Amino acid sequence: MGRVAVVTGGTRGIGRAICRELASTGYSLAAIFRTGDEAAAGAAAEGIAAFKADVRDETMCAEAVQAIESQLGPIDVLVNNAGVTRDSIFHRMRSDQWRDVIDVNLNGVFNMTRQTLPGMRQRRSGRIISISSINGQKGQVGQANYAASKAALLGFSRALALENAGHGITVNVVAPGYIETEMTAAMDPEVLAGIIAGIPVGRMGRPEEIARCVRFLAEPEAAFITGACLSVNGGQHMAG
Ligand code: NDP
Repeated sequence: MGRVAVVTGGTRGIGRAICRELASTGYSLAAIFRTGDEAAAGAAAEGIAAFKADVRDETMCAEAVQAIESQLGPIDVLVNNAGVTRDSIFHRMRSDQWRDVIDVNLNGVFNMTRQTLPGMRQRRSGRIISISSINGQKGQVGQANYAASKAALLGFSRALALENAGHGITVNVVAPGYIETEMTAAMDPEVLAGIIAGIPVGRMGRPEEIARCVRFLAEPEAAFITGACLSVNGGQHMAG
């Protein structure tokens, strides 16, 4: 059986590009999605198996992982990509905006990793790659919730990397800058133009550029890279 990769939020945006990139190198792909049935059908037509589950729900994650493993085989690569924004300046932020973001972007990572890590430990092999954000590294006005959730992925991944380094499992983070997807298309065009003006390479990134980084970290040859954060932001923020 070939290698199996699971990408949460894999039917749209960056996740879809990651699925395509990994599929092109011979992985069997499973994409987890929540609401986008049409996008899921499109992914399925490309040979990406789509599984409906809300990453906030531990039971749904367990069922999805079980279904993926019985259909495709043991999971070699988990890409925690599903994410949401609920922007608001903090002094006006409602508790549901805080909780929604933490539930998807952080608790969702717990739920999916909790389900896949034991099998990887048993097989003494695995890759866990989580998609953080430039705004988790540098902060951003209106995104205290999002920045907190994305910064948390760095600490989470470093701790997990230490715990599993002796088990053939690497745990890394990719921190994209601004990338052309529906998430950024929903932003105020004026705000976005101001942000692009501050990106040294002079443009936003493309989903495929993030996907290539994920592929690199997923390769067996990347076994010496763990607990790392790959910043991919056109020079907008050079984190040490
Ligand atoms: P999109 O908004 O285009 O896609 C988000 C994906 O996440 C969708 O596939 C969506 O599924 C899925 N998703 C959301 N909530 C859940 C949930 N509860 N359970 C399962 N799946 C869920 O986002 P992007 O492609 O732009 O972003 C992907 C990741 O990259 C996110 O984590 C984001 O924070 C991060 N990122 C994005 C940047 C950008 O500029 N675009 C910059 C830095 C980081 P469905 O459609 O089915 O609801």
